[in-house]
Amino acid sequence: MGKINKYANTPLDRDYFKRKENPNYGKAPKLTKCCGQDVDHEALNVNNEEEWKTIEEYVERHLREYSNTESTTVVACKTCGRLLEYKSVLKQDKKNWR
Ligand SMILES: [Zn+2]
Repeated sequence: MGKINKYANTPLDRDYFKRKENPNYGKAPKLTKCCGQDVDHEALNVNNEEEWKTIEEYVERHLREYSNTESTTVVACKTCGRLLEYKSVLKQDKKNWR
């Protein structure tokens, strides 16, 4: 009897095909030293002019859609410039303070 394909007679799941495409699939993600982000995860970077435009557009749209938002801070890693989160400050409605 010859050697049988080792993948025969075993269930092939989604992970099997993901691993086939990407040998690193399923391994612990590599994290950036500065901000602990997954390096394989695509993130916008505030130091990239084009990407900053995208970030600005996002904030502008957010301010237009949410009238109770006073301002939005783009929080980015101070070392590599990776976008981490958007922090919004809500308007204090003065009427509620009387
Ligand atoms: Zn970083």
